[in-house]
Amino acid sequence: MATHKLLLLPGDGIGPEVAVEVEKVAKFMGQAGIASFEIERGLVGGIAYDTHGQSISEDHMKLAHDADAVLFGAVGGPKWDAVPYDVRPEAGLLRLRKDLQLFANLRPAICYPALADASSLKREIVEDLDIMIVRELTGGVYFGEPKQIIDLGNGQKRGIDTQVYDTYEIERIGRVAFELARKRNNKVTSSEKRNVMKSGVLWNEVITALHKREYADVTLEHQLADSLGMQLVRWPKQFDVIVTDNLFGDMLSDVAAMLTGSLGMLPSASLGETNPKTGKRKALYEPVHGSAPDIAGKGIANPIAMIGSFGMALRYSFGLGAAADLVEKAISAVLDAGLRTADIKGAATSTVSTVEMGEAILAELKKLA
Ligand code: NAD
Repeated sequence: MATHKLLLLPGDGIGPEVAVEVEKVAKFMGQAGIASFEIERGLVGGIAYDTHGQSISEDHMKLAHDADAVLFGAVGGPKWDAVPYDVRPEAGLLRLRKDLQLFANLRPAICYPALADASSLKREIVEDLDIMIVRELTGGVYFGEPKQIIDLGNGQKRGIDTQVYDTYEIERIGRVAFELARKRNNKVTSSEKRNVMKSGVLWNEVITALHKREYADVTLEHQLADSLGMQLVRWPKQFDVIVTDNLFGDMLSDVAAMLTGSLGMLPSASLGETNPKTGKRKALYEPVHGSAPDIAGKGIANPIAMIGSFGMALRYSFGLGAAADLVEKAISAVLDAGLRTADIKGAATSTVSTVEMGEAILAELKKLA
């Protein structure tokens, strides 16, 4: 059995609380002979600043480079509001994404039937929803140059951001989407604003050509990003995999997230290029939520997003799809049994703690394995 190197970066706030629960799941997988993990721990965010004066130290960046996958909790909180901008807690996460060249952000939006009533949409619209948003993460308007505010000298200023994409950036994110679709329901919806943006025209051309050349077996459709936003809340089950740029992906993935209820339920993955020599790719897995300072230290955070993120690591970094299925089934089973943390309480009469939810998922895993 291969041993996978996992770097755990719990971070701040509820990060360490939910990280404890995911460690139990990883440890169980080793004991049950499903997979073996060598887990290193590192510091990121506010705790790293308090310890090293940096949001992530060079030593811990090296650990991230050497790991098969990074499992990240959350960073930030009011304690660090006044620290210098370049060492603020979030800078640690941005550095990890940049240095590991994590260009593909995968955000599943899954609505467990037991939680369908927690959505702001009607049950029939979201129940059993299972879509995947693939967002380009290292290019586009967030990084394009020039990016500046200039003084026009007449009492006016001009703010400039530049939306820019090269062919190779669109092709590599397109490949991620088409490959994922082949393992799911074989459909990709590509989204841009070709009606008003040149980068959208190129995006559309490149995705269309890539599809024709390499992925003609997958159904491809194009939707303008504004229209896709509307369709996401009208009838989200029409989608399988959605691929889009950094800016639109940022917004559309948050919209999709809310279809499913609580932030405490949502995992994500950020992937880099596959190394042709080793066949491995850099990857970071993290819950979508932040450090939740309002509930940190109370033991009530929902650990499902973090455990689900580990499930994604099993699937996308370690080739352990069956083990990932087990994790998802265990989560589904505890929800079906009525267990709820406070954030997904709904009409439930009682709630469980972070540890109780983690233990319940572990118990289900033991039954299923
Ligand atoms: P947040 O996601 O931390 O919290 C938003 C709300 O959701 C809060 O009411 C919180 O209690 C609740 N919540 C979040 N996760 C939960 C969980 N697992 N279980 C139960 N409830 C949960 O977002 P915020 O309040 O906007 O930000 C708080 C801090 O986190 C800020 O410093 C922000 O910069 C940081 N942040 C970090 C990340 C990250 O590390 N990737 C992401 C977003 C925000």
